[in-house]
Amino acid sequence: KVQVKIPTFKLKSGEEIPAVGFGTWLGLDEKLEFKIKDAPKMLEAVMYAIDVGYRHIDTAHLYRVEPEVGYAVRKKIEEGVVKREDLFITTKVWQHNHKPEDVEASVRASLKRMGLQYLDQVLIHWPMAISEEGVDEKIDYLETYRGLEAVLKKGLTRYIGVSNFNLDQMKRLLANCSVKPTSNQIQVNLNLLEDDLVKYCQENDVLVVSYTSFGSMISSRTSPGTPEPRWDSPIMHEMSKKYGKTASQIALRFLYQRGIATIPKSLTPSRIIENASIFDFNIDEADIATLEKFNCGYRTECPVFFQNYTHYPFDKVENININEVPISLRKWKNGANLDIE
Ligand code: NDP
Repeated sequence: KVQVKIPTFKLKSGEEIPAVGFGTWLGLDEKLEFKIKDAPKMLEAVMYAIDVGYRHIDTAHLYRVEPEVGYAVRKKIEEGVVKREDLFITTKVWQHNHKPEDVEASVRASLKRMGLQYLDQVLIHWPMAISEEGVDEKIDYLETYRGLEAVLKKGLTRYIGVSNFNLDQMKRLLANCSVKPTSNQIQVNLNLLEDDLVKYCQENDVLVVSYTSFGSMISSRTSPGTPEPRWDSPIMHEMSKKYGKTASQIALRFLYQRGIATIPKSLTPSRIIENASIFDFNIDEADIATLEKFNCGYRTECPVFFQNYTHYPFDKVENININEVPISLRKWKNGANLDIE
């Protein structure tokens, strides 16, 4: 069976996080409903990913697949493929659980759904606090983070961190926390290098983990208005030939060489292998400089329906109609009572 060997990033504080992990967000369909029918495929994909050598699994309460992720993990432990301590499992606290006391309830429910004793990392998914009804709860993310610190003290997770925090929010958090976040999971890709935020995190020993690492190269995310590169752009084509790697591998390797971890999601076995096979080549300086020119601040995933909420982390888009937050991002079957069913 094919095996991939994934190195870790080591933080000064001693933590080690795999440089490539496995993402588990199935996404929304055209009607903005969650693609729940793909959950069984996700279960298969997580088992396959662990079989071939992935050790970091990134999930979230929002993703509805914690039961599948937990099942896959327990099965692979039972089969002797891995030990629990070999894995690095991340989940996240959603926006309607931002009161400090709700953070613990959310983490305990995640553990219950996954059938696990502890998590390796829990993140605040977004800095905004939004109720299931879509009300702006205006809870300070520092309060939510205090809830996370309490969860850490109780031993429910080994590390804590944040996601979608901008530079000012990171500065404020680092100035006001007792336990530093291990990572900030943000959108970074060839079109969106986020240099200032990445530099600040790295100088402060916070690992940057990139999501949507392929940017708009993915055909489902490419439209006439999206910036270069595409899979078949001449530059990507030439680099693919030169290094004997695909455009997606070049995109992931580029981030790795900047000290950024990635968590690509795929339900396709060949791509699961492809995305982790980026540790046997090196993009040279001239090609890095060429790739850096694609940086244009373009945000492939831009959730404008969040933009009028307190603590929204990105620049607002002017002159557009703002729809309400899709119901699938506010309520879900086991979202209200955090039950296991
Ligand atoms: P990715 O950027 O990883 O892209 C996933 C899509 O790309 C899928 O359609 C997949 O198709 C396809 N794909 C994967 N690998 C390849 C490849 N080698 N060649 C061609 N196509 C490929 O997706 P996400 O935006 O989901 O981000 C990754 C993860 O990051 C998420 O799963 C989630 O865990 C996390 N995330 C976190 C967010 C946050 O707010 N913190 C926001 C968004 C994501 P297929 O499955 O059919 O193979």
